Amino acid sequence: MVGISFALMLAKRCVNMRVLLLESKPKAYKWRNGESTFDSRTTALSYKSGLILKDIDVWNLLKQELAEIDSIHVSNLGYFGVTRINSSDVNVEALGYVAENHRLHAILARKLAQSNISSRFSSRIARVELHETSLELTLEDAGSTISTQLLIIADGAGSATAKKVGIHSRLIDHHQSAIVANLTLGKQHRGAAFERFINDGSIALLPMSPFQGKDRASLVWIQSNDEANAIMRADDASFLARLQAQFGFRAGLFRTVGVRRSYGLATSEAEEQTRRRIVLLGNAAHSLHPIAGQGFNLALRDAECLSSCISEASDNGTDHSSMVVLENYIDSRRFDQQRVLDFTKFLPKLFATDCYPLEVGRNGALLLMEISQPLRRAFARFGMGL
Ligand SMILES: Cc1cc2nc3c(=O)[nH]c(=O)nc-3n(C[C@H](O)[C@H](O)[C@H](O)COP(=O)(O)OP(=O)(O)OC[C@H]3O[C@@H](n4cnc5c(N)ncnc54)[C@H](O)[C@@H]3O)c2cc1C
Repeated sequence: MVGISFALMLAKRCVNMRVLLLESKPKAYKWRNGESTFDSRTTALSYKSGLILKDIDVWNLLKQELAEIDSIHVSNLGYFGVTRINSSDVNVEALGYVAENHRLHAILARKLAQSNISSRFSSRIARVELHETSLELTLEDAGSTISTQLLIIADGAGSATAKKVGIHSRLIDHHQSAIVANLTLGKQHRGAAFERFINDGSIALLPMSPFQGKDRASLVWIQSNDEANAIMRADDASFLARLQAQFGFRAGLFRTVGVRRSYGLATSEAEEQTRRRIVLLGNAAHSLHPIAGQGFNLALRDAECLSSCISEASDNGTDHSSMVVLENYIDSRRFDQQRVLDFTKFLPKLFATDCYPLEVGRNGALLLMEISQPLRRAFARFGMGL
């Protein structure tokens, strides 16, 4: 999703630039039991991501399939401190939006097909050689070669292409898994999103657009690996009972659960994001703990900044792949990347600890935020990517 989004930004800003997208998977992804094998997850898009997707003309197609997030409710199992953040706190019509990944991907792919971007599917880079004025890429399929001024690596966490050029990632294994599933609810969600911290993890519930007239919610249930394995093995009725016991009834009764998937969680940060004629984007650059739903949003902001640095250089007649341009990009992005990385590393630790002063402190922080509008507004603006 990051690679295509970036290619669309570049094609829009630099109309004369030739852009080629290489994807290792085949062009068409298959459907099984009405569910996309591409990705059954949803993505909480921040307000800022909405603006970026508008800019690449994806929004009009996506908007009718989105659910709006009008409020966010944060709580901690076993404590009375809660915080509610409403769109009215920041005077916007929605704090964010929820998109189904397979729909978002399908729309991005449609825009790609309509653009002047060339693409090659079932294609991987086998070797990268740096020359004075270009990079030479040898592809695995039939050993064909491509010459390019700039290579953007957006092939996901643990990037195989980055490794080929000797860029490695620092990895933190959280020993946790995220169980993802869609639920039908006994009452209307009215745009409410929930984040509930529980022993050793968290439960996020995001509003989804209705399906066959029923309100749905997307669940991301994070637990230790052992606990997650046990939850995955439970039948639907026990799964829902266990979830309801941990989450409570704020969103009503959980009626049914769809296909469950489990994702092992790790944070990875590439040791370098830019090198001569090379930039890493998306999960290849930084893959985050999904606790606050920030990974794709952060990557879109990176991609927007990079495409703007490249287009500015091209307009000024400067070499857009020079280290000056790429360093300017990374300098502009350092602050935002660091604060989001720190936040997503700190939050799971803060709520996982059973150290008494910290337990009291975080409960107090939720209460403080509930009564302080400036604090709520600051927190909302952070989540909105502003
Ligand atoms: C449970 C969960 C929930 C999440 N929820 C949110 C959320 O609510 N909001 C949010 O902002 N983020 C969320 N994220 C994070 C978000 O999903 C990621 O940040 C995002 O998917 C990263 O996209 P990407 O394109 O960089 O990487 P990927 O999605 O991994 O895509 C990489 C692409 O590269 C291709 N590829 C792989 N190897 C090669 C190769 N050698 N050559 C060519 N192509 C290759 C792959 O086929 C794939 O198409 C969540 C993550 C998880 C795990």
